Amino acid sequence: MTISAASSGRVYGDAGHEVSLPASRMLIGGAWTEAQNGAFIDVEDPASGAIFAQVPAGTAADVDRAVASARAAFESRSWASMRPLDRAKIIEAIARKIEDHAHELALLESYDNGKTVHHALAVDVPAAADIFRYMAGWSSKIGGQVNPISGDGRQYHSYSVREPIGVVGQIVPWNYPLAMAAWKIAPALAAGCTIVLKPSEVTPLTALRLAELALEAGLPEGVLNVVTGYGHEAGQALVEHPGIDKIAFTGSTRVGKQIVQTAAKDLKRVTLELGGKSPSLIFADADLDKASIGAALAIFFNSGQVCLAASRLYVERSVFDRVVEGVAEAARSFKLGNGRNPDTMLGPLVSRAQQQRVLDYIDQGKASGAELVAGGNSGPGDGYFVEPTIFANPSADASIVREEIFGPVLVATPFDDVDEVVRAANDTRYGLAANIWTRDLSRAHLTARRLQAGVVWINTHGMNDPSAPFGGMKESGWGREVGEEGVLHYTETKTITALLD
Ligand code: NAD
Repeated sequence: MTISAASSGRVYGDAGHEVSLPASRMLIGGAWTEAQNGAFIDVEDPASGAIFAQVPAGTAADVDRAVASARAAFESRSWASMRPLDRAKIIEAIARKIEDHAHELALLESYDNGKTVHHALAVDVPAAADIFRYMAGWSSKIGGQVNPISGDGRQYHSYSVREPIGVVGQIVPWNYPLAMAAWKIAPALAAGCTIVLKPSEVTPLTALRLAELALEAGLPEGVLNVVTGYGHEAGQALVEHPGIDKIAFTGSTRVGKQIVQTAAKDLKRVTLELGGKSPSLIFADADLDKASIGAALAIFFNSGQVCLAASRLYVERSVFDRVVEGVAEAARSFKLGNGRNPDTMLGPLVSRAQQQRVLDYIDQGKASGAELVAGGNSGPGDGYFVEPTIFANPSADASIVREEIFGPVLVATPFDDVDEVVRAANDTRYGLAANIWTRDLSRAHLTARRLQAGVVWINTHGMNDPSAPFGGMKESGWGREVGEEGVLHYTETKTITALLD
């Protein structure tokens, strides 16, 4: 593993693995720097609780410097006015850098977040590389239109162009730290924006390494700045900053609402990818073995810390017991452990606070009278483990049914007909994702159209792609990420009209 310019060379290791850590620095204007007040945040390994790294605890003063750097880079037009195909080359080069450093990034993600290295290698790292590769193409494809105006009878030439929105503040969570940073950075770069990114204080390391790789790939200094720090300090300062033109946020609905209120003061553009309480719908005619495994993975994948986790399971009554037993069997078979062990299937939750939050919900579930079918306890050792947990027949107003837990907890409820299950599935303030399992094609598509969710999967779950817009209805967000819509959210439309006679 290389020790690079930003790397401290400190090595942390267990189970025969070693990882070189990014230095305790953040990136402002192409330079690696400490927080102005010299404060640091400890970074913990969720598999053991050990503190293995530190990053600067940036504050408003550091956000100020980063915004000034991003503004200077934007105003110089060195990025936005670069030949679109040259911009594409650099964005594509970032994709290749990610692929070249796949193992290193996966290992770092495992230490930082707890997830297994094979999960990070199979999901997080390719997702990050893919979005850069896909968005590279958009650099040369953001066009405009000619407007066929009627006007006042004289001749006009009217056209609309898409311009980069400017300097964007991007705030990301801890569950897919590298992939979420990539989903934010790549479309903004394709649109010609400059960036101040704030990773989660819990998982800041891969965003720093990604920024370093982006510089190595040829990204001009100041185009991408990374400020590490707490949400209420660095995050809040970014949202309040008058030099920021748009905030792109992924995180909880609670913080998303605060951001909207703050950003409203100067009408910053805002896009939000927020929480979810997504349903799985299994009809009796489905391939029940596949559906059971699918429903188990839809909630327990990444230890349930997934915005699109399908945490509510609705099963047609005639096959309810069979499916719930199938999901429970899968849940019991997942081996919990250190994410660096190759036989581990589920790593720990990201922090002690998150573990405690999930265990509190499990206690509420037990107290609510729902039937505990599997799990229900913390896991082995010092790490922040929680067993995959399933409750059956909860009351519809129990907190485990209504609130996003963001952990490996599933609630299962039987249904008798399609109207009933659509009503139940939509009975939530969230609207991020859903899945439907049936062999009846017409029912699958008709039901998909009735669900209040930004993404619906049929006989599968979680198939995301850079070309497919992703995002939520209701309190799950504003706008869509990735795809054409994702990149256009980083542009403003300008209409230009000339009188020709
Ligand atoms: P969070 O809302 O606590 O934090 C997210 C980010 O916001 C972090 O970087 C944090 O430091 C920052 N932040 C916190 N308070 C802030 C403030 N007042 N101003 C500005 N920034 C602030 O979320 P989390 O616990 O890191 O992540 C879990 C949540 O993220 C879940 O609700 C999950 O559903 C959601 N999420 C959504 C998606 C999606 O695409 N819809 C993807 C991943 C995670």
